[in-house]
Amino acid sequence: MSDTKKKTILIVEDEPELAGILRDYLQQSDYQVQIIDNGNAAMEHIEKNAPALILLDLMLPGKDGMTICREVRGFSHVPIIMLTARVEEIDRLLGLELGADDYICKPFSPREVVARVKAVLRRSTSVPNPSTNNIHLDESTYKAHLNEQQLELTAVEFELLKKLLSEPGRIFSRNQLMDKIYQDHRIVSDRTIDSHIKKLRKKLSSLDGDHDYIHSVYGVGYKYENP
Ligand code: CA
Repeated sequence: MSDTKKKTILIVEDEPELAGILRDYLQQSDYQVQIIDNGNAAMEHIEKNAPALILLDLMLPGKDGMTICREVRGFSHVPIIMLTARVEEIDRLLGLELGADDYICKPFSPREVVARVKAVLRRSTSVPNPSTNNIHLDESTYKAHLNEQQLELTAVEFELLKKLLSEPGRIFSRNQLMDKIYQDHRIVSDRTIDSHIKKLRKKLSSLDGDHDYIHSVYGVGYKYENP
């Protein structure tokens, strides 16, 4: 398997030794691993790099794991496994309904963590398919169809639609959409994405005026919903 096909696991953990052990085991299981050792740097990293799964320690310098989990759930369904130091903590966290996918108590065996990572990923992985019942995207020809009628899309609009379709219901921030499209998005303003989305919506509604496919989420970004 080439590196680009490997799933990236983000470890947010301030104990370097523990993070290192987890990294070694995960790498042996063919995952790519990134480590962040403080809570304040985590959000930006997650937003930018969209890891396949996050191992999130509860007690962190800076922003704590609970807050990070809540904030991530504001824009992403990425699987999150919380690491806690006390077993009693798990009940409390479950009660708070943070939206984590699993909880593991320290000390743990790294093998168990890997097994849980695999289980959570298996549960959450949907087959990537840039098409729905209504919309069909052909990546080899860059042709798009809505209800079997051809959509005339620019390359940028095609890429935006593909990204949104990759996870229906997931909210993508403007930054995430820009990352997909521009090598250097510092030169692109949020308005650029907004105007591409506006044109894309117009083209979709010219073929199907009865449904909204792309929804804007105020202050956050955009999502695709099957009508
Ligand atoms: Ca800690």
